[in-house]
Amino acid sequence: MIEKNNIVKNKKLNRLTWFGVGGTSKIYFQPETEEDLISFLKKNKSNLNIYPLGAGSNIVIRDKGYNGIIIHFNKLNKISIDNKGTITSYCGAMDAEVARFARNNARSGLEFLIGIPGTIGGGIRMNSGAYGSEIKNFLINVIAVNKKGILKTFTVEELGLNYRSNSLSQEWMFLKANFRSNKGSINRIQDKMKEIIKSRKDSQPTGLKTGGSTFMNGKDFKAWELIDNAGCRGLKVGGAVISEKHCNFIINENYASATDIENLGELVRDKVFKKTGRKLNWEIKIIGEK
Ligand SMILES: Cc1cc2nc3c(=O)[nH]c(=O)nc-3n(C[C@H](O)[C@H](O)[C@H](O)COP(=O)(O)OP(=O)(O)OC[C@H]3O[C@@H](n4cnc5c(N)ncnc54)[C@H](O)[C@@H]3O)c2cc1C
Repeated sequence: MIEKNNIVKNKKLNRLTWFGVGGTSKIYFQPETEEDLISFLKKNKSNLNIYPLGAGSNIVIRDKGYNGIIIHFNKLNKISIDNKGTITSYCGAMDAEVARFARNNARSGLEFLIGIPGTIGGGIRMNSGAYGSEIKNFLINVIAVNKKGILKTFTVEELGLNYRSNSLSQEWMFLKANFRSNKGSINRIQDKMKEIIKSRKDSQPTGLKTGGSTFMNGKDFKAWELIDNAGCRGLKVGGAVISEKHCNFIINENYASATDIENLGELVRDKVFKKTGRKLNWEIKIIGEK
């Protein structure tokens, strides 16, 4: 049901996530501009929790939905560059767009973003990375906004970014980020991006309903190896299956529900624990009512 100004009540969320599952959110808001967002937050007097959503590539929203406000950042996506080579991106911009923007401006360093199917905001929350680089290596600072519409700038050090994690309170939503970049050659940047795309196609399932890596690697182990050793490759619950190609990926193969995906993940954790004594931690975020 559409209310006004991109505010929707009881919005179905399944199409907003890569897994294609999930119930509704009490309120859904898709700001078109920074001013829209701030004004919405300042006027909002409800006590509902607020949750920022990017491209939905690392999230499972439960079948019973989210009893709060989902703010979808995807339209806040402008990217610009200054004369020192600092790239400024609104946090709803897709990582790949930022990679292409950097290439078009002959700036190197951000090529790794070409293969990550998320937004800059999701990337900062998760400290996303690939091929030896991660967000933390290039992020200078980010302007964030809280539930009350108050803006604050955090330096990369203040965010406490570590492997697929960020220690800043969930209260802060990322709005606009500054990245450093290096002078580069467009052809060389393009070649590197092509290599990354090819290598991903060879090693990961593509074009499927998935959330990418399900569990985090540890300091001394790869999650996929533990999953494989515990005999979980190809394991199924309902319509959800552990990928045969990359067994740290769960695929929604056959009309899986969010419950199928969560239960499959928990079954894998259980089997891995019984076999190896190690507890896998979810990398994928799971939100919503149980
Ligand atoms: C096929 C596939 C391949 C992948 N490969 C990689 C990879 O190589 N490396 C890697 O690191 N990840 C990978 N991922 C996971 C995922 O793409 C990244 O974690 C990505 O950065 C998530 O961004 P998103 O916009 O989709 O976030 P979402 O899934 O929408 O949200 C994830 C988290 O980020 C938070 N978030 C989103 N936007 C904001 C914002 N503006 N402010 C504050 N918090 C926000 C959400 O609240 C949530 O907690 C892959 C996923 C898929 C499906």
